[in-house]
Parts: sequence; C-alpha cells; structure tokens
Amino acid sequence: MANIPYRWEVSDVVIVGAGGAGLAAAVQTGLAKLRTAVITEVFPTRSHTVSAQGGIAAAIANMDEDYWIWHMYDTVKGSDYLGDQDAIEEFVKNAPLAIYELEHWGVPFSRNENGTIYQRAFGGQTRNFGESIAHRSCAIADRSGHALLHALFERTLRPDVAPYISYYVEFLALELLRNPETGKVFGVVAWDMVNGGLHVFFGKAVIFATGGSLKNFRTNTNALINTGDGLYMALKAGIPLEDVEFIQFHPTGIYGVGNLITEGVRGEGGYLINSEGERFMKRYAPHVLDLASRDVVSRAMAMEVREGRGVGPKKDHVLLKLDHLGKDFIMDKLPGIWELAYKFVGVDCTKDPIPVEPTAHYQMAGIPTNVKSEVVIWDGEKDVPVPGFYAAGECSCQSLHGANRLGTNSLIDLVVSGKQAGENAAKYIIEEDVPAPLPADDFWAEKYGNKTYEKIKELFDGPAGNYKYKDIFYPLRDSMQQNMSVFRIEEGMKEELKILDELDEKFSQMGLADKSLHFNSELVEYFEMRSLLTLSRIETMAALNRTESRGGHYREDYPERDDKNWLKHTLVYMDEDGKIRFDYKPVRMKGRTAPTFPPKKRVY
Ligand SMILES: Cc1cc2nc3c(=O)[nH]c(=O)nc-3n(C[C@H](O)[C@H](O)[C@H](O)COP(=O)(O)OP(=O)(O)OC[C@H]3O[C@@H](n4cnc5c(N)ncnc54)[C@H](O)[C@@H]3O)c2cc1C
Repeated sequence: MANIPYRWEVSDVVIVGAGGAGLAAAVQTGLAKLRTAVITEVFPTRSHTVSAQGGIAAAIANMDEDYWIWHMYDTVKGSDYLGDQDAIEEFVKNAPLAIYELEHWGVPFSRNENGTIYQRAFGGQTRNFGESIAHRSCAIADRSGHALLHALFERTLRPDVAPYISYYVEFLALELLRNPETGKVFGVVAWDMVNGGLHVFFGKAVIFATGGSLKNFRTNTNALINTGDGLYMALKAGIPLEDVEFIQFHPTGIYGVGNLITEGVRGEGGYLINSEGERFMKRYAPHVLDLASRDVVSRAMAMEVREGRGVGPKKDHVLLKLDHLGKDFIMDKLPGIWELAYKFVGVDCTKDPIPVEPTAHYQMAGIPTNVKSEVVIWDGEKDVPVPGFYAAGECSCQSLHGANRLGTNSLIDLVVSGKQAGENAAKYIIEEDVPAPLPADDFWAEKYGNKTYEKIKELFDGPAGNYKYKDIFYPLRDSMQQNMSVFRIEEGMKEELKILDELDEKFSQMGLADKSLHFNSELVEYFEMRSLLTLSRIETMAALNRTESRGGHYREDYPERDDKNWLKHTLVYMDEDGKIRFDYKPVRMKGRTAPTFPPKKRVY
C-alpha cells in the first residue's frame, strides 16, 4: 500500500492561481493583513497572463474623446447582449482607476509624445455608440501581460503586503472543500508536485483565479496548464458553471501552431487578405473592416476558406499583412509579433504576410459571480452567494463578456475582479469574524477530501493502465476542433458526445507507470485530463442545447440569434455520480445607473 504523505495548515485566505487575477486579489488580502496562501501550479510570473500581448482596455481618452458609457455600449454589443449590464457598468467605470493604479505600481506603459499612456485600436471598440473607431487599449508594446504580471507580482513583494503572503509554487489544487450542510467553502486539497503528498489548505475564505481551459482544442493560444481545473473543482463541489458553450476563437493564430498574433496588429493598420489578395473583411463588416469583433472575423475567415479563397497548398488559411506599417514601427510597437512569426513559421513580417487561422483563445464561461466577485448560485429567483467563496479572472463569469469577449477586456477584468475578490473576501472575514476552520481529528475519514486521498492511493497502488495521456489528449483535441469550433451543427456535436464516451472509457483505464512521489507528471496529467474531459462534455452538451447562434456560438442549423427563447445564461451542474443537469437564468439587462442597451442586430 502506498504511503501518501499529507500535511495541512490554516490560513485566513486561500487563493488558487497566481496569474493577474490571483495576484490582484493577493494584494488586497495582504493589505488587509490577512494571512494568505497563494497556491499555483507554476511560478507566478509563468501564469498565462504573461503571454497577453495587445493591451488592456479603459476609457482614459488619451488618443481621442472617450467615455465609460461608450466602453459599456461596445462591451454589451460585443457580448451579443448576453453580458449582464450592471456588472459591465461597474467594470468599465472601475477600469480607468485600475490603469492609473497599475501605472503607479510600475507598469511601463508605452507612451505618447506628450508622456501620456499610449492606446491602440482593437476590435469592437468604438466612439459615440458605434460611430467611429476608438483607441482604447492601453499597451506596453505587444508584451502587455508580461509587464502587468511582473508589476503585480512585485507589488505583492512590497513590505506592506509581503509578510502576509505565502506562495506555494508547484502545488496542484485537486478539490474544493465545501461543507455540504452549510454550503460554506473552507479550503482546498492540493498535491505537492515537488515532494509528493497531499497538502490541505484550510481557509476562512477561498478565491479561485485558475484561468482558462482551452487545451482541449488542437489549435489554441493557451498555455499547457490551461486545463480548467478550477472549473472542474467548483462543479464537483456542487457549484454550477455559466455559459460553457461560449468559446472564443481568435482570428489570428499562427497557421499550424495556433500561437497568437495580437489583434493589436489589425488595430495598428494590419489587415487580412485571401488567395486573391483581396481585403475580404469589406464584405463582412463594411464599416469597421478588420476591427469587427472576433467571432465575426473568425467566421469570415472560415467562410473564405470554405468558398475556395484560402491560401497555401491546402487552401485552408488566410494571410495577415502588416509590412506596409514599416519596419521601424513594427520593431517599436509589435516586436514580439515579429519574433513569433519568425521563429514559428520563418516569416519576416516586415516583408511578408503571416499565415493565420482562427485559434481557440478564451472561455467566456466560468464560475458564476456577482459584482463583488462572490460566487453565486441561482435559486430560481435570485443569485445567492456561496459563503466564503470568490472567483476572479478568466475562470469566473460575472458575466462581463457574455457570448463574446472584446479584445483587451480580459486584462482589465483580471485587475478589477481580482481586486473585488480580495477586498470582499477580506471584508467578509473581518466583518463576520469568521472562525478558522480546523481539521477534524482524522480528516481523511471525514466526508471531506477523502475521495481525493483514496483516488491517489488507488492510482499509486494500481496497475500502469492500458492508456496513457497522449492516447486521450490527441483524439480529444482533434475531435473538439472538428466538432466544436467556429461552426457547429447537431450531427457533429452528437458525434462528439460519442467520441467523448469512448475517451471516458479509456480514461477509466488510465493508470500510473511512474510511482515516484517527486515530480510525478503522470499523476498531474491524470488530473488535468479529468478536467479536460468533463469540460469538453459539458461544453458540447450545452452547445447542442442552445438552438440559436450568438457570439462565439454559431450553429449552422440555427444561424440566427433567438432572443425570444435564448436571451438567458446557461447553468450546468454535476451530481455526485457525474450526472449532468442544465438550468438557465435571465440576463440582467438593467445597468446600475446607465440606460439599458436593448438587443439589436449586431453589425460592424
Ligand atoms: C496568448 C494570449 C494573449 C492574450 N492577450 C490578451 C490581451 O492582450 N489583452 C487581454 O485583455 N487579454 C488577453 N488574453 C487573455 C488574458 O490574458 C487571460 O484571460 C488572462 O491572462 C487570464 O488570467 P487569469 O489570472 O485569470 O489566469 P492565468 O494567468 O491563466 O493564471 C492561472 C493561474 O492558476 C493556476 N492554476 C490553474 N490550475 C491550477 C491548479 N489545479 N492548481 C494550482 N494552480 C492552478 C496557474 O498556476 C496560474 O497561476 C490573452 C490570452 C492569451 C492566451
């Protein structure tokens, strides 16, 4: 019998994830002098936030006149009217302050001649309710996430915060601890990847900031660790996930590899061409051309390919032209793009266009939260907060982005929602004088956490298994790419569910050949696969249910948006035995003070 070591400890706050959202939350819990454990699978500055390129949106009006209400209008329209308007209003109003705070914390923004923060145009950003293009994305060349993440990490190292923060790097969180009677969240069970063994982190409050999940697509921009563990853990603890069918495909992934070429390239004047050298976006978005929202541009590219105007031997992609911007400009404002294109496909983009195809990029789905970043469960009439549980960043769903996120609205979401989560968790602990949860004498014999403990023992004691990670991973991402990407249709999704049944069967026969405790990557892969398979299934089921097209979800068999039946959020639950159940809740159409933006036909 394997002897699995275990340790435990008690903090005030447990934060899972040290990307932009987790760190923004940690700054606040540290400032509130609460002992905070930050658990992360990778070193904080290696979180996916580091790879964000194009910028961070806020109506600070440095380039042209701009107001939060225009940012709000664009975000609501971009969301295909599925975003909750009260949350969006709060978010766009907080955005400018967040930018100035980041500036004071040392983010080295690109500058205008007069010293103000440089802002570039991005898809779906307009002035005066769609009249003309806006320059709203504050940028740090094309390495915005890198600069942001490092500045946030450094902020947690300053003396007013640092003494309260303990980083647990290379710990894989596996289970959210939630009292089934009271519903209260009180910690997480994690695997110590370096030394081996389970580590239970008890906390008065838990904040999830576990990021995205799109490793289940063959072509994607995500980091290897973006496997959606946070979403899985919440689901398993009886908390629903919201709007899982909405997955964003970014138009410009490097052909064949998927790595992102920022929309900032088009914001700066780059554009897409087909095999005839034609700037085809004029046929799909006559007003703003290549700066339409991402779902619109991705579908336009796929249409060009379908109609035989793709480039390359397989005629299966298009080209992004930017050489006309000039070498000096490219090397100053887009140096990272130049490097990516050169390294991955050998293209010098100061001379030649970059081959691109749509690539899975961002999950609009997440753990449902309110404007305080409290996790909420819909009771049929209202959202009820889950005591002690908060979520921020890409793993959460307030819902700011609805059916389609606008470019550069995520980085600002991280800092705004991360701060909300940290502040409100601190307020809850202090004002309600929450007692420290202490483990029972024999923790593993209790109802909490013991399933994870038993599962790990079973894996260590069991056989190597008939299948390995790769046997499931590659068929999974190929089939999801085939059946669940830019275009979806009933037969394809039904086929996907059959494939997922087969893959689940293989997963049940997956075991560990490696029985060592230290850096057991097989064990990590096992748990990541568990998340990926579950998410793929619920995404497909939710997409099959939604018989309309909206934002990132496009049904060839139901090409129109259907506000009468589908202007509502999907909620998906998973029972103890893995059974999946759906529910729906209304979209909050009323802003806090702003007028409602009613659904209109979405044209760019
Ligand atoms: C290539 C690329 C470019 C982008 N460019 C932009 C842009 O220019 N502007 C913009 O607004 N948005 C952009 N986005 C989107 C944006 O960067 C992300 O949505 C955002 O950074 C996510 O931040 P996060 O803090 O929620 O999660 P992440 O930064 O992904 O961090 C997740 C954290 O959770 C931890 N974690 C996850 N699972 C576990 C587990 N089981 N146990 C322990 N720890 C765990 C990880 O270690 C990590 O620390 C881009 C995204 C990509 C992929």
